[in-house]
Parts: sequence; C-alpha cells; structure tokens
Amino acid sequence: MYPTAVHEAYRAELAAIREKGIFKEERYLHSPQAADIKVEYPCGAPLKEVINLCSNNYLGLSSHPAVVAAAHEALDARGYGMSSVRFICGTQDLHKQLERKLTEFLGTEDTILFPSCMDANGGVFEAVLNDQDVMIADRLVHASIVDGMRLCKAMQDTFKHADMKHLEQKLQEHQDKRVRLIITDGVFSMDGDLAPLDQMCALAEKYNALVFVDDSHSTGFMGKTGRGTHEHCGVFGKIDIITTTLGKALGGASGGCVSGRKEIVELCRQRARPYLFSNAVPPPIAGAALKVLEILNETTERRDKLEANTKFWRQALPEAGFVIKDGDSPIVPIMLFNAKLSQDVSRDLYQEGIYAVGFFFPVVAAGQARIRTQMSADHNIPMLTRAVEALKKVGAKHGILGLDKKGIIEKFGQ
Ligand SMILES: *Cc1c(COP(=O)(O)O)cnc(C)c1O
Repeated sequence: MYPTAVHEAYRAELAAIREKGIFKEERYLHSPQAADIKVEYPCGAPLKEVINLCSNNYLGLSSHPAVVAAAHEALDARGYGMSSVRFICGTQDLHKQLERKLTEFLGTEDTILFPSCMDANGGVFEAVLNDQDVMIADRLVHASIVDGMRLCKAMQDTFKHADMKHLEQKLQEHQDKRVRLIITDGVFSMDGDLAPLDQMCALAEKYNALVFVDDSHSTGFMGKTGRGTHEHCGVFGKIDIITTTLGKALGGASGGCVSGRKEIVELCRQRARPYLFSNAVPPPIAGAALKVLEILNETTERRDKLEANTKFWRQALPEAGFVIKDGDSPIVPIMLFNAKLSQDVSRDLYQEGIYAVGFFFPVVAAGQARIRTQMSADHNIPMLTRAVEALKKVGAKHGILGLDKKGIIEKFGQ
C-alpha cells in the first residue's frame, strides 16, 4: 500500500527541509564545465550564459581538448569499463602507470587508486589503524574524513581548527597509544585557508606521530610546481599519508587515491573496503588523468595563471568594498554573515550573469554565511573585471559595500 505512514513521515521531513530554507536545488548546465557556462535555473527557465565562480575546475582542465582526446584514446584502446574490482580482473596497465605517475607527482613512495577521494577516506583509516591507536583530527576536516573515521575502531579525538597548541596538548595526552595519526585537510574548502603543515610535521616528529593530509583542494596548483600544500609549506616528501581527488583540478571526472609510505599503501590494497568491493576506475578516466599529469609536469603555466587570477581577485574584492577571508588559495569567500543575505546576493548575482553559491549553517558555522568564490585558470582578467562590476552593482543594491563585519551584522543581523 502506498503511501503508508512511513512515506507520510518522509514527506514531512522533506517539507521541514524546505521550510528551513536548506533544500538543495540543482542547476542544470547545458554546456561543458568551464569558466563560462550555459545554465538552466530554475528548472524550466530559459538558458542563461554566466561566468562560473563556483566549480573546482581550478586548472581549467575539465574540458581541455588534450584531456578529452586522451580520454577518447584510452576509450578506444582499453574500452569503456572494467566490470571488475581491481584485485579480481580490474587492473590495467593504465592503472599502474597512473599510480606510478601520481607517486612521482606527490613525492611519495606508492599510490593506490580509489573510485573517489570519498572512498579513499572511507577506506584508509580502518585499513591501517586499530583499537590501540588514536586519530586526532582538525575540527573542520571534510565530511568524508569524518565518515572514514567513524568506520575505524581507533579512538577519535579532535583539535581546534589549525590550533597547534591544542594539537600538541592532544599529542601529549595520547602518548600511550600505538599510533597517533594527525588528520587535516591541506586547503579547507569553506574558508580557503591552509593547514600549517610545517608545524604539524614538527609536532609529529617531536611526539612520534604520523601526518595525514587530504589535499583535494590543492593537488595540481598549490606550491611552486603545483604538487600541493606540502610543497607550499616546505614539507614535500614528509607527509605519511596524502589522499586526494582526480575530481577537482586534475581533470574533474572522478577517482581518488591514497599516496604515502609503501607499507601503508600495501595495507590499503589488502584491506581497504572501497578498493576491494567497488569497481576499478574506468580506462578513459585513467588515460585522461595520465595526460593531466603529463601537462602539469611539462609546464606550470596553468597554476601560474590561476595564481595570477587569485591575486587579482583577492585584491579587487576588498577594493570594491567586500569583506573576504584572507589566504593564499583560489577559494575566496565573500563574507555576508547573514544566511538570507547570502541567498539574496547569490540570486541577484545570477541575474547579473554571475554564478556563485551562498553557503550558510549547517554547511558553515552559524552567523558565518558567505558567497564562496573560486578562481580557475580558465578565467581571464576581463572576465573577472566584469564579475567585480556585477558584484559591485549587487553589493550597492543591498547597501553592503564598504561595510565591515560589524556593519553588516548591525544592518542585517547574524
Ligand atoms: C571534494 C573532496 C573530497 C571528495 O572527493 P571525490 O573524489 O569527489 O569523492 C574529499 N575530501 C575533500 C577535502 C574534498 O574537498
């Protein structure tokens, strides 16, 4: 019988989500992922060409002709799918090549591919830690790390975001454990700030701990040659476990990996459940990812352009009268503090041809609502100049230009 009381209860839950204003609506792209896209929003509305400020396509490689061609080539040479997990009959030469190239790029000893970074984080902790160990995580780590930790029997603890004093205290507290694993994101996706990896590595040495970094928002462009946060922070080659995604800067399709000490990677091959029980990365993705790494090894042109765009953007926004979060990464949050204001500004920006999404509680802390903007190597200065003009127009409409945090909160509430 349908609907039953259960379905009614689900409907009520959905209605409550809508009522709270946190129902997630999807926008339909009618074009490839790029700096300028054609969007249908809301569903059924006429298509609109907008400047995209909210993808993770940091290097502009998602639709790059050479990457697309490499995917075609692998598709022709090695087929569409593997119809197997890696350890039964799902490992191709392409997978092994890609693991080797990622190892070289990240400066580690070995690498194991996963269907996604979510899966890498879901499998790695359980594979290498047991109930004699402790995981000490930054309080703002990505949801997939939180889930991975939940699947693991090691004790869980946290330290205040990027607070090295607090981390040190925790390391002292847990000296009786077999393994102390410090866990952090490299670049934090909501604030765009970086983990102080140099200090973390120093603490790890002092207290005999291991360091885990999820560098999904960093691999390919942070650091002089784009290796990641570890290169940026001067600790290249010193991180015990790096997880990262192929789904952002590295072509943006899907796939992730755990990279690090060879014993750790080997244990993941033996025990990590998303590796053992989920399908191998499809050949076109492996082939395209190899091409991406080839491009990045040949030239730093794209990460250099991304850096220049980021510099322009981080200077232009405060000059235009907005409050941003300082930092070095291409993630640049425009702080609005008030949830409704963030939604209103996002909607008005869309009308002006700018696609940027507003985030508010529970995605970010209460009272910390914002528009998150992200730079790409695919943007250019004329495009970004147009975006700043649109932001100024919308900012003026809401009377927020030149207001600091206090001013905005006085006017709109938190
Ligand atoms: C995006 C992201 C992931 C998930 O990556 P997928 O490959 O899409 O599963 C994991 N961790 C962090 C920090 C991320 O930003």
